[in-house]
Amino acid sequence: MFERERIRHRFTARPATVAAVAEVGDYVRVTLTGDAFADFASSGPTDHMRVYFPNPVTGELVAPAADGEDGITRPAAQTFGRDFTPLNVRDAGATRTVDIDILRHADAGPAALWAARATVGDELVVVGPKGSVSAPQGAQRALLVVDGTALPAASRFVDLLPDSTEIDVLVCGGVTEDAARDYLGDSRRYTVTEAQLELTDEARDLAPDAGTFVFAAGEASALLPLRRYLRRELGLASAQAVTSGYWRTGVVAWDHHAPIDPFDPED
Ligand SMILES: Cc1cc2nc3c(=O)[nH]c(=O)nc-3n(C[C@H](O)[C@H](O)[C@H](O)COP(=O)(O)OP(=O)(O)OC[C@H]3O[C@@H](n4cnc5c(N)ncnc54)[C@H](O)[C@@H]3O)c2cc1C
Repeated sequence: MFERERIRHRFTARPATVAAVAEVGDYVRVTLTGDAFADFASSGPTDHMRVYFPNPVTGELVAPAADGEDGITRPAAQTFGRDFTPLNVRDAGATRTVDIDILRHADAGPAALWAARATVGDELVVVGPKGSVSAPQGAQRALLVVDGTALPAASRFVDLLPDSTEIDVLVCGGVTEDAARDYLGDSRRYTVTEAQLELTDEARDLAPDAGTFVFAAGEASALLPLRRYLRRELGLASAQAVTSGYWRTGVVAWDHHAPIDPFDPED
């Protein structure tokens, strides 16, 4: 019911040029392209790519380079790579374009700083996605618990889940119901709840059951009690309840592979 097909993509570093910049709600939407994007692919809702930004002090772009057909070479010097969700991949002549939505946030790091001044013609480097894991095709319901950093992933679930799956979106971290609806659009039906209480209580009210797939992503510490509720109290397996820390308060370039719950690191 919660099976998800996995496919691998060619793993490489792609030099990217900014083809367009737009304001989309709380985000700066940046459209990236370049010759190396001709075979860029992304078909999974939780796909992510590492985007390399210029050094915010010197402006120099230091980034991995392609190493043959499959593989990359990492530079010795410091890099400024951050994870983003690929959106709206489309053909553009002999190549392709992909969008990323970069949330404006307080305590802006290299990504948010760069986005505030992004202009057409700017250059970045994109590594990944290494592969795609499809949306589950057999779930009766999907509960998507997301803050602003994971709303782009939620939009991909909304696009990629079958029509037979009911979708409940629980937004947190200051995202309002109206902002979420504006962002997700009206391509299909879903409910949106804006978290007012502790996230676990909000999720409990939405009653995830045996037929519900759960995706929860956002600030890592905020997800810890929710993850314990899903995994320990409800006993949901990791294939049914996917939790992912997309950033962590006070941590620069948070590594989302780090466990949210150090006492239950299996993910
Ligand atoms: C798989 C995955 C997919 C992601 N997809 C997206 C996406 O599509 N769009 C998107 O905007 N983000 C996304 N993120 C989150 C993004 O990678 C982080 O927010 C990243 O830290 C931003 O980089 P930065 O250079 O602006 O800040 P950093 O240099 O990493 O951090 C600087 C400071 O800002 C804080 N900070 C980081 N993010 C936030 C925030 N959102 N709100 C408040 N404070 C913050 C940090 O705690 C730190 O104190 C994704 C993360 C992962 C793991």
